[in-house]
This record gives sequence, structure tokens and C-alpha cells, in this order.
Amino acid sequence: MPVALILGASRGIGLEFARQYRADGWRVVATTRSDDGQRALEALGAEVHRLDLTDPTAVAALGWKIDGEAFDAAIYCAGVMGMRTHGIQPVHQDNFDTVMRTNVLGPMMALPIILPAVEAATQARGGKGGALAVLSSRMASLGEMESNSNWLYRASKAALNVVIKATALEAQQATVVALHPGWVRTDMGGPLAEISPKRSVTEMRIVLAEISRAHNGAFLNHDGNAIPW
Ligand code: NDP
Repeated sequence: MPVALILGASRGIGLEFARQYRADGWRVVATTRSDDGQRALEALGAEVHRLDLTDPTAVAALGWKIDGEAFDAAIYCAGVMGMRTHGIQPVHQDNFDTVMRTNVLGPMMALPIILPAVEAATQARGGKGGALAVLSSRMASLGEMESNSNWLYRASKAALNVVIKATALEAQQATVVALHPGWVRTDMGGPLAEISPKRSVTEMRIVLAEISRAHNGAFLNHDGNAIPW
């Protein structure tokens, strides 16, 4: 039975990943920091670990909790937008700390712990498969940037993109990618967003099933098309 690890799965896109992988008969290991998240994930039949991804002790503890695991797919979903801004409005340090800790520090603590378990699955599959995806955002693309809205969020995801690329360089056999989920109707994306979590995750799961080592270090849209860094 294939195994998926979903980090930040209490709601939104992460919860939808857990739902869809479970519906397809996968074993799902998921993390959440809330009671509501735990209840929702347990109702899906996922194995749940409580984890605030900005807590160094808790992230380190995840290491021994997943010791010996092999993840065919690992998806890092946790993220925050922070205060929404238009133009280059001064950023408050509290907001900076929250956004950077969540979107950059969390992945920098967790990805080194998760990568070996994805490498293990890749090895078990004879070098084929084994994908580690991190949800970035098209808003972080310097190649496409034409707006200065939400500049703290953009800066955090641009820093995250470096973290993802570095992780891809470290991967020996697994495929590590940055994924843009689309503009998705979640608490973050809001009710006016273009696509449902169901469609976004369905498409990203197709991407994850189809990518190979040639895609290692790529920045991909939910439909599989490449996005300029
Ligand atoms: P939501 O706001 O709906 O959900 C965010 C998730 O991240 C929640 O499960 C939340 O948990 C979790 N999270 C936040 N901080 C932490 C933390 N410190 N520790 C553990 N979990 C945490 O967002 P989406 O589902 O829409 O977004 C998922 C990812 O996709 C994010 O990284 C986002 O930046 C990215 N993205 C989303 C887009 C969209 O349009 N929705 C567009 C582009 C990228 P909790 O319930 O405990 O707060």
C-alpha cells in the first residue's frame, strides 16, 4: 500500500490531499496542530501526529516518530499569508516573524527530516517514484512578478523556493518540486478564488504521479506546466 505524508493537514489543501489519498486506498500519515484538524483527519482514517511546524522540539520529535517510514509522496502544505498589503507598506516585525517562521523556518527544519523517508520509498521502488512536494506560490515567481501586493508573503515563498531547490540538490533519487496549487477556495484563498480544493488537489496528485527524476528541482503549476523561478 502506498504511503503519503501530509504536513499541515488540518484544513484547506492539506486536508483535501489527505481525503483524496485515503479515498484511493493509500495509508496517510498527517500532521496538524489543532483538535479540529485531528478529528477531521482521524475521521478519514489518517494516522495523525500533533505538530506545530514552527516548534523546533516538536519538529525534531517528528524525526523519531517517522523513523523507518518510506513515503511514496510527501507534501508540505502548511503556510500563512500574514497581513494582506498593497504596495510596499512597512512590515511589522511580529508579522514578519510569524510569516517567515511558518513559511521558511518550518520547511528548513522539517525537510531534512522528511527527505530520507522519501528517498527510502524511491529506493524501494527501484529508483522510480518517490516525490517530495512543497506548496509554494506563483506569487513568488520573480520571472512573472508584476504586482507588489502581499510582499512579505511573496518574499517568504521566494525564500522557500531556495529551500526547495537546495533540498532537490540534496536528493539522490527522489524528486523534489515546488508546486503552485492555483488560486484555491480555502481560508487563505478566499471565496472568490478560481478553483476548488478538490480540483487543485486532483490535478496536483496527477502531477505527483507523473513526475520523474527529470523534474527534480522544478517549479510546477497544478496543471504540470513549469513556472519561471
Ligand atoms: P489554509 O489557510 O486553508 O490552511 C493553512 C494550513 O497550514 C492549515 O492546515 C494550518 O493549520 C497550517 N499551518 C499554518 N501554520 C502552521 C504551523 N505553524 N504548524 C502547522 N500547521 C500550520 O491555506 P491553504 O490550504 O489555502 O494553503 C496551503 C498552502 O498552499 C500554503 O502553503 C499556501 O501558502 C499555499 N498556497 C495557497 C494558495 C491558495 O489560493 N489557497 C495559492 C498559492 C499557494 P491550522 O489549522 O492549525 O492553522
